[in-house]
Amino acid sequence: MTTLNIDKQVLLHNINVIKNLSDKSEIIAVVKGNAYGLGLCPFAKLLEQTGISHFAVTDLADAITLRECCIQGEILMLTPIYEHTLLCQAVKHNITLSITSKACGTAAENVALELSKTARAHLCIDTGFGRYGFLDSNIDEIVETVEDMNHIQITGIFSHFYGSNCKNPIHVEKQYHRFLNVCDTLSQKHISIGMRHIASTSSFLRFPETKLDAIRIGSAFLGRLPFPDKWGFAPIGELEASIDDIYTLPAGHNVGYGNTYTTSKPTTIAVVSAGYYHGLGLERQTQAKPAKLTPINILRSMKHYFFRKEITAALGAHHFHIIGRVGMNSLILDITGFSLSVGDHVTFPINPLYVNSSIPRSYLEYCSVPSPCEVTDEEMPAKPHLLKVI
Ligand SMILES: *Cc1c(COP(=O)(O)O)cnc(C)c1O
Repeated sequence: MTTLNIDKQVLLHNINVIKNLSDKSEIIAVVKGNAYGLGLCPFAKLLEQTGISHFAVTDLADAITLRECCIQGEILMLTPIYEHTLLCQAVKHNITLSITSKACGTAAENVALELSKTARAHLCIDTGFGRYGFLDSNIDEIVETVEDMNHIQITGIFSHFYGSNCKNPIHVEKQYHRFLNVCDTLSQKHISIGMRHIASTSSFLRFPETKLDAIRIGSAFLGRLPFPDKWGFAPIGELEASIDDIYTLPAGHNVGYGNTYTTSKPTTIAVVSAGYYHGLGLERQTQAKPAKLTPINILRSMKHYFFRKEITAALGAHHFHIIGRVGMNSLILDITGFSLSVGDHVTFPINPLYVNSSIPRSYLEYCSVPSPCEVTDEEMPAKPHLLKVI
C-alpha cells in the first residue's frame, strides 16, 4: 500500500516554532484543503492536544467534519454562506461565520433569529485583495450591517494580504494600515470588533509587526516556505511505496511512456507503485492565463526548469533515480548494482498538499533510542524503531 507518512515529532517541532514566534497572538490554524494534505481530523486533533483552540476552513463540510470528530475549539468559516439550509447547519454546529457583505449579514441574522440562537461571526474586510469582504472604504455599510444584526455577535474582524511574498513591502504596509483604520473607526463608533487578524504564514514571518490579536497559519505547519527559512522549520511529508517488481533490461531498451528514456547498458529496474495520482511529479500551476512573454518571465521559466529539484527515491541511505516518465500509478527506478527485493519500501519527499486525499495518512513516531519504543507495525519492517500512531 502507498501511504503518506507524517513524522509527528517534526510536525510538533513546527507547531512549537510557530508558537514561540507568535508571542501573545492567538494561533488560528487554517486547515482547509484536507489540512494542506495532513488529514483534517488527525491534524486538528493533534493541534488541539498542543493547546490550539481556533481553526479555520473554507468549506462548510470541513467545518462540520471537525465538529463530528469532536473538535471543541472555535471553527471559523473564512468564506461567506448565503444559502438558508447551509446557514442553519453552520449555526447548529456552532460554526463562526464570516460576514462579507450586507446581504450576507442579513441572511445570517434571519437564520439565527429563526433558530433563536446567537451565532458568532467575524467581519471580513477587503483591504485590497479583491476577494471577499466589505471594502475598507465602506465604513457606513459595515456599521449598518452590524447594527441590523441582533442575533449575531461579532467576535472578530479580518482581512487578507495579497502581497506578503512580494519583495516590495509597500503592498503589505498599505493593506495593514487600511485594516487598522477600519478597526479603529469601528471602535470609535463603539462597535465591538473582537479579535483582529490579518497575517498568515508569509506576513507573520516576514512582517511580524502585523501579528495583531491572532495569526492565521496554514502552510508553515508543513515547514515548506516559499522563501529562505531563518526560523528552523523542518519539511513534512514522505510518500512510502513498495517495489512491485524487479527486472534487468538489456542495453537499448525503452523505459516508460513517450520514448523519453533508453537504457545505455544492461539496467536493473524496480517498478514502484507510486505516480502522479499519488502526487509525485506534480507542481503548483497557479497562473490561469499564460504569463506575458517578457524577458524577465522567460528567464524565470528557464530558471524554474533548470533548477527544478530531481525527485529521487530513498531506501535507508541510498537514493535511486527515477528513469522515464512518472506514470499515473507507477514509476521506474534504476537500481543497478543494489540488491533490493520485491516488497521493499522506498520513500519520496513530497509536499502533502499534492497527495491525493484518498491516500492513507500515517502519523509516525520515530524514536532515536530503541529501548522504550517497540516496533508495532509489522508491515513496515524497513524502518527500525517505528511506532505507528494513527
Ligand atoms: C489559506 C488562507 C490562510 C493561510 O495561509 P498560509 O499562507 O498557508 O498560512 C489564511 N487566511 C486565509 C483567508 C486563507 O485563505
